[in-house]
Amino acid sequence: MNRTLLFSLCILLFTQCGDSDTYILKEEVDEEIIGYFISFALEGELRGRSINWNFEKVSTEFVDSDSDVIGNCMTFSDGTNLINVDKTYWNASSDLKKEFLIFHELGHCVLERSHTNAATARGTCKSIMNSGENICITNYSFSTRDAYLDELFL
Ligand SMILES: [Zn+2]
Repeated sequence: MNRTLLFSLCILLFTQCGDSDTYILKEEVDEEIIGYFISFALEGELRGRSINWNFEKVSTEFVDSDSDVIGNCMTFSDGTNLINVDKTYWNASSDLKKEFLIFHELGHCVLERSHTNAATARGTCKSIMNSGENICITNYSFSTRDAYLDELFL
């Protein structure tokens, strides 16, 4: 067996090992964030949208972002997704703000939604999926949450 063939074989084996990795939600998602994933799946279920985490393969990572970006979700060519969350923002945020951020990022990676800055006549954002650039005013509260989640999943 020549070296090139051996090398190819190793790559093949490595790739197969990679493919057989099982996704475990508890291992891939930070324990401070996992509750929001579970809540996202429950809210989706209530609105007729089942979330299969083994299929979505989303992991999370806390980062120190130097920019204004408080979170993002990246999708890789192998179908896995990574949500980066700015640790400083996270630590300073209320439960509702954390939920908004995680639901927004899952909106990108799991629901494949892009940004919309659609607004009411008073300038309030109609969607969790607004760009966060203050084009419309976000009004995510306990009283508006249900309407925002209806819009997110439906
Ligand atoms: Zn976004």
